[in-house]
Amino acid sequence: MQTVNLEFQPLRLPDHVQQLRGEVRAFIDSEIAVGTFDPDIPSEDWELHRAFARKVAARGWIGMTWSRQYGGQERSFLDRYVVNEEMMVANAPNSVYFTADRQSGPTLIKYASERIKSEVLPKIIAGEACFCIGMSEPDSGSDLFAAKCKARRVKGGWRVNGSKIWTTNAHRADYMIGLFRTSAPTPENRRHGLTSFLVDMSAPGITCNIIDQMSGIRDFNEVVFDDVFIPDDQLIGEVDGAWKQATTELAYERSGPERFVETFSALRNLVAVAGDAPDVRMAESIGRMVAELHTLRRMSVSIAGMLEAGLEPVSEAAIVKDMGTMWEQELPQRVRHASAFVAAANSPEHARFENVLQFTQRIAPKLTIQGGTTEILRGVIARGMGLR
Ligand SMILES: Cc1cc2nc3c(=O)[nH]c(=O)nc-3n(C[C@H](O)[C@H](O)[C@H](O)COP(=O)(O)OP(=O)(O)OC[C@H]3O[C@@H](n4cnc5c(N)ncnc54)[C@H](O)[C@@H]3O)c2cc1C
Repeated sequence: MQTVNLEFQPLRLPDHVQQLRGEVRAFIDSEIAVGTFDPDIPSEDWELHRAFARKVAARGWIGMTWSRQYGGQERSFLDRYVVNEEMMVANAPNSVYFTADRQSGPTLIKYASERIKSEVLPKIIAGEACFCIGMSEPDSGSDLFAAKCKARRVKGGWRVNGSKIWTTNAHRADYMIGLFRTSAPTPENRRHGLTSFLVDMSAPGITCNIIDQMSGIRDFNEVVFDDVFIPDDQLIGEVDGAWKQATTELAYERSGPERFVETFSALRNLVAVAGDAPDVRMAESIGRMVAELHTLRRMSVSIAGMLEAGLEPVSEAAIVKDMGTMWEQELPQRVRHASAFVAAANSPEHARFENVLQFTQRIAPKLTIQGGTTEILRGVIARGMGLR
């Protein structure tokens, strides 16, 4: 059996990218200082997210890698990386534009009709268009080939019937990129028969039912389609051939800092309550966690470099998501153990630390499920290495 080595070329962020980081950090600090948002617990105030998206757009930080033809700035993936990283670690209210900037916009640029590109991309860049991803269904999560939600060809377009599930932000999104069954799989190709469409979420026949989560967050949904009409030019790419498109989209989805910093505020607050002269056992624990984070980050930056070079590092991205999500999932528990060496105190810092720790422990279980489970990622990695 011939196996393939995976390589993470070390990459140092250039000075101009670090300078951009400074600008983003200054912007975020000033927003926190005036009380726009709390950097420890993500906000669910949608008006806040909308207003924040407009501010970020005004700075040119949405769609920054896209072609000028569509309103982008043709900046590098490394520029985008530091903007994204600073926003994520600060828990900035970025939900309006995050998905569109990361994956829906690039998918439209690659596969959508010119009408859609000229109509929708400027709205994303202005921070005015929120996207959701309609892939998972009640009986098809990991196994996307089993998708049943059906799009039937009619005069001038398609009619969709069925449902999607776990759709983040569907109830607030302006658009969905949905994966629908347009014909049956063939005996030779199990992947055949799925097609992507741009769905206008205000179209008649769409109902979003919010699903409660144990974290208390109410951002995902079951989406029911009852004879929803989609015009022909909202087809994205090839009829029956969406599988390749969907997997490319996942390379963007799996490698960024969002895959290891979602519980970072627990570590940040541990450092705050540890003070200037921490117990040696606590200092050792913090050092270990920071060293691991640094390694993950180097791997993730390396992938940003590969994307910049026009490569599709699907397996490497899966490794970052596998290791990164396991790390961020375990982090709150490790921080809880390390905090045994924090002297008990009745201070605002300690109350905040406890609050953050409880919140991050409640979101930890979802981290290794969203965007592809650990088991599925390991299958992708094995295939990429020629092991299966
Ligand atoms: C917070 C959150 C947000 C989400 N947002 C979205 C979204 O916006 N849009 C969207 O489309 N989906 C979204 N999802 C859904 C997510 O992508 C799916 O939950 C995930 O792909 C797993 O699918 P499933 O839940 O159907 O589990 P299943 O596929 O039923 O898996 C159940 C278990 O079996 C294991 N398993 C399944 N197949 C195999 C296999 N071949 N080999 C080994 N083990 C296997 C899995 O690893 C898992 O442990 C979200 C999920 C979460 C938790």
